Amino acid sequence: MEAKDLIIGCHVAMKAPKYLLNSLQEALSYGANAFMIYTGAPQNTIRKPTKDLFITEFQQTLKTNNISIDNVIVHAPYIINLGNSVKPSTFQLAVDFLRTEIIRCQDIGIKTLVLHPGAAVGALPQVALDQIVKGLDAACLPNQTLKIALETMSGKGSEVGINFEQLQYIINNVKQPNLIGVCWDTCHLSDAGYDLNNNLDEVINEFDHLIGLEKLFVMHINDSKNPLGSRKDRHANLGMGYLGFETLVNIIYHPKLINKIKILETPWINDQSPYLHEIKMIRTKQYNKDILLALGEK
Ligand code: FE
Ligand code: FE
Ligand code: ZN
Repeated sequence: MEAKDLIIGCHVAMKAPKYLLNSLQEALSYGANAFMIYTGAPQNTIRKPTKDLFITEFQQTLKTNNISIDNVIVHAPYIINLGNSVKPSTFQLAVDFLRTEIIRCQDIGIKTLVLHPGAAVGALPQVALDQIVKGLDAACLPNQTLKIALETMSGKGSEVGINFEQLQYIINNVKQPNLIGVCWDTCHLSDAGYDLNNNLDEVINEFDHLIGLEKLFVMHINDSKNPLGSRKDRHANLGMGYLGFETLVNIIYHPKLINKIKILETPWINDQSPYLHEIKMIRTKQYNKDILLALGEK
């Protein structure tokens, strides 16, 4: 498989003055042909009206640069928790916000929204899973085109969606399973106990058997600061964690995963973006730790 087939990008900002257009320009500056944004601050639900986001200019510039809008991913804010069965107002806020986010994404032309399934906050995991099913059914629209990718979680705190069985349960029980798929996060998978260093093919086959590889809509590519099964969720730059560059390249170029949309969420180093360098390393399969370390020296 060739580097030219890759759909690779990273998380970028969406901010004034030109919002979506600025996001695209940031992604292009890294040599990306995909990217992911939050439609506002990830930790709150305040959002600008979509008419102010430069949608027309954004879509035109995507065309000029030969990038499909399918490769532009939105991540829902991580404060919304559809798994909350303890506090009805928090659950309702999550449902209401998710519905407005679905509409906002469809206005922009986005095809895929990444969502953290939720956390049990004191209840049993199974109760949270049923609550998430209820929440997705309440939020999704009858004629919805936007797909929702439930992210594989690390297992920190009371998170659910920490294994393929739990994600399968949600997908099998919602009213519109055609709308729901999965986003792999390599850091989270490792932290949750999936051994990508030694058992990549088994992990892929297990996912295919339980959920189906066609349901893998997007992948977050991150190294992990912590060892297998640590349930920590601390992202590391490529080759600076327990997964290592070789394992990440094996994942990215795996024949069964080559066509998937891949998004880096690795940390900035000393207020400098690592993405130009990390994307280049991925495309060339050549690791250059010095160039990342140099970012830390300024
Ligand atoms: Fe996430
Ligand atoms: Fe992620
Ligand atoms: Zn994470």
